[in-house]
Amino acid sequence: MYLKTIRAHGFKSFADKIVIDLSNNISGIVGPNGSGKSNVVDAVRWVLGEQSIKSLRGDGAMTDVIFSGSNSRNSSGYASVTLVLDNQDHFLPLDFNEVSIKRRLYKDGTNEYYLNNEKVRLKDITNILLDSGIAKESFNIISQGKIEEILSNKPEERRIIFEEASGTLKYKRRKEEALRKLDKTHDNMNRINDIINELEVQVEPLRIQREKALEYNELNNKKLKNFTPWW
Ligand code: ATP
Repeated sequence: MYLKTIRAHGFKSFADKIVIDLSNNISGIVGPNGSGKSNVVDAVRWVLGEQSIKSLRGDGAMTDVIFSGSNSRNSSGYASVTLVLDNQDHFLPLDFNEVSIKRRLYKDGTNEYYLNNEKVRLKDITNILLDSGIAKESFNIISQGKIEEILSNKPEERRIIFEEASGTLKYKRRKEEALRKLDKTHDNMNRINDIINELEVQVEPLRIQREKALEYNELNNKKLKNFTPWW
């Protein structure tokens, strides 16, 4: 599986529809500062479901990614990015040789995701990408400053990065989740034991009270049987 094509239209500086065809080799995008190289990375991150505008180098609403116009052009009504993945090796668990993932955002905030041109939820896309290593959080996308961040991290933080890259982090997270649930169950069991202990203390006095009540009833019945009215 590899990334075959990136298409963008109305996303950030891509007012016109752009199509970037990539081969199964190494591709590089070069250009002067501010020409939009990082916008390509943002586009990939965005289509994979990025929800934080800050991660896309914006500071307002998500609609900021829509082309905002220039001196010579009107703004765009929507932003759209499509990734086409070659899936001939069926690395992605889908019965298609080619998989396209599309995200579209309108100015009114309406956001849509498509998988092979069929409207889907973001969850459907994340589920497919989860084990493939192309989820938005994976280290397939290393943006500017990230390498420095990795190198300057504390050893424990660096370890998390390696664990995530090697795919073991998700098992670690699942283990943590399972241990948390186990802890909660232990707490519940302790509470139940407390209740049992409390009720057990009441059992003996109640047993004595019951015996007394039975004895009273018996004596009372006898008294009623032997009773002969005087009239
Ligand atoms: P650098 O080398 O500094 O990383 P770059 O080549 O990666 O630069 P980008 O940062 O990707 O360039 O692109 C920035 C350009 O994108 C700027 O000219 C900016 O005005 C433009 N831009 C960003 N968002 C929008 C938007 N919503 N509408 C129009 N233009 C935008």
